[in-house]
Amino acid sequence: MRTLNNLWKFIRTRYYLTFKMNYVLKSVSKRRGRCKRCSCCPLTILNFKYKCKNYNPIDKSCLVYNTDKMPKSCFYYPFDEKNKWDEFKDKCGFWWEERNSGDKC
Ligand code: SF4
Ligand code: SF4
Repeated sequence: MRTLNNLWKFIRTRYYLTFKMNYVLKSVSKRRGRCKRCSCCPLTILNFKYKCKNYNPIDKSCLVYNTDKMPKSCFYYPFDEKNKWDEFKDKCGFWWEERNSGDKC
């Protein structure tokens, strides 16, 4: 079920970054906290382990962090609570003041 949720999140992310960029920017501006580098990059979508070529498994870092090579989906992650991958929902160091951030989608 979780991997199905991640597929939905993947599609939602693409949709928001393409058609609802204003929402993304507004929500990110209200985001609090910081990345704890808990390594949310290797994730599973429908039983496929997604391995990014920019991920360094040795020190669990992103080789393109905060550079212009970083994909938009990573740069703005997480742009709201619903954007967080299920596996990392409770670990992520980012949060919003309003408990129910995000729209109704
Ligand atoms: S680009 Fe960086 S942050 Fe994005 S998935 Fe790859 S390693 Fe992770
Ligand atoms: S889950 Fe959140 S805190 Fe952890 S690595 Fe990903 S963005 Fe950073």
